[in-house]
Amino acid sequence: MNENHQSKIHVFYSPTKIIIGLNSACQVAQEVKQFGGSRVLIVTDPGVVAADLIAPIASSLNSGDIVYVVYKGVEPEPPSRVIDQGAEIYEAEGCDLVLGVGGGSSLDVAKGISILAANKGRILDYCGIDQVPQNGAPMILMPTTAGTGSEVTRVLVLTDEEQNTKNVVFTPYALANAAIVDPLLSLSMPPTVTADTGMDAMVHAIETYVSMTATVFSDILAERAIQLIADHLPVAWAKGSNTDARYHMSLAATLAGMAFGSGGLGAVHALAYPLGTEYHMTHGRTNAIMLPHVMRYNTPGSPERYARIAELMGRNIDGYGLLEAADLAVDAIQDLLETIQVSCRIKDYEIPESDLPKLVAGGMKQARLFVPNPRDLNEEDVVSIYREAY
Ligand code: NAD
Repeated sequence: MNENHQSKIHVFYSPTKIIIGLNSACQVAQEVKQFGGSRVLIVTDPGVVAADLIAPIASSLNSGDIVYVVYKGVEPEPPSRVIDQGAEIYEAEGCDLVLGVGGGSSLDVAKGISILAANKGRILDYCGIDQVPQNGAPMILMPTTAGTGSEVTRVLVLTDEEQNTKNVVFTPYALANAAIVDPLLSLSMPPTVTADTGMDAMVHAIETYVSMTATVFSDILAERAIQLIADHLPVAWAKGSNTDARYHMSLAATLAGMAFGSGGLGAVHALAYPLGTEYHMTHGRTNAIMLPHVMRYNTPGSPERYARIAELMGRNIDGYGLLEAADLAVDAIQDLLETIQVSCRIKDYEIPESDLPKLVAGGMKQARLFVPNPRDLNEEDVVSIYREAY
């Protein structure tokens, strides 16, 4: 344990009921009833519907005589209008419970609809920290990717299309009444989605672990998540039908979500955001691209923690100096990215070098995330990290 922890007061926030297990989706009707639902709005996207993931859920709801309406209008990195539209449908259909089924995009839209059901207006009215006056409609979240951990977090992320930025609604009312984590729902993810979302979970775990706002609780969760992802992501990527690998990735993503919910994030997220908003790349991919470069920059700020990450990823650090051992963590991440065929070079994504100033300006807009980062950054540092990443 980090000895500095003993001189701080730590808060852990994870009141969500979590149900995890193969085939746990069949318990959804029971949970809907427990939270008083009888007419459910299923919030999802066309990819999840095409993968036939609604079928086991519909079957459970039908057997419990629960009526449901499917809203499949979710778009990746969801624009705020998708949430506003879903809230109109929720009201028009007279629903009484929101059921998010999908990746982080669908779960975040479900959170927004739940909030608007009780607070009215548009979701952009509630951006920021603790701007939501009252609890939303009952909500159950069922992840079908193993990445964001949204099923257990107090935040939802949306795209403000007018400002061309990502925005967050951070409120305890974004917590689900229950999360049902059924790894069988993740088997159909194609390898690129498995890779991108799995790396998103890894970034949550690593950023929280090295963050200045890490807590005794986030440490325990993050360490286990790092280990599980290092061991199981390559298998889940290579053999999507491997239920053991999928189980452990689903568990790791939920643990990493709980970790960053009680720890913090940092410069990886800050510098990844502009890649997402400018070039419409997935959240997981942009985080994966920036991770090794920010780690390389950060190691002097927290060498013990990075050395421990190297160990958690299976590297033997015996006989190495602390900084050398910390560098082994960066090597381990680069090897993992190579294995799952994710390039961490910006130039491989058809982004011209002349766009780097635009990325720097976008990254600097997220400077609030530099505060918990283990090494200070100024604009010059941001320029050099993007150059290195190019
Ligand atoms: P996603 O929800 O956008 O899904 C990506 C694609 O995968 C979609 O096309 C979807 O249809 C498809 N898909 C999902 N599950 C599938 C399955 N089992 N089989 C086949 N296809 C499947 O991706 P994501 O990475 O899970 O979520 C990203 C979003 O989550 C971003 O908007 C990001 O900002 C947000 N996010 C939220 C939190 C939070 O705590 N609220 C944390 C991190 C990220």
